[in-house]
Amino acid sequence: MSNPTNNKAERPTMPAVLKGWKRKCPQCGSGPLLSGYLTVNDTCTVCSEEFHHHRADDGPAYLTILLVGHLMAPLLHMIFVRYRPEPLVLFTIFAVGCVGLSLYLLPRLKGAMIGFQWARLMHGFR
Ligand SMILES: [Zn+2]
Repeated sequence: MSNPTNNKAERPTMPAVLKGWKRKCPQCGSGPLLSGYLTVNDTCTVCSEEFHHHRADDGPAYLTILLVGHLMAPLLHMIFVRYRPEPLVLFTIFAVGCVGLSLYLLPRLKGAMIGFQWARLMHGFR
């Protein structure tokens, strides 16, 4: 019978999270984790690891908002105080920056979250 402690040792968390960040399978690191922008594959095409157990739900969106908000809000304040740009210029730069950063982070954070769940044997990952 397998020991849960041994299983955790077989699945180190940080490499799995990094592979997920790269949107690759947390087990083999070469199969695609996502098909399209955010759709999670049911299984890995290389090692047949099952991904359908994941429960990322709203977690990646929450983390994206958390990171983008905490990066952009102070930056917006600093730029405004230091340079006093035209309001329309400031709005345009930060609107594009917020949307671009959010679109960049969302699939990577989803992959990282699934990698974390896989490494910690959460939600049926065995
Ligand atoms: Zn794989």
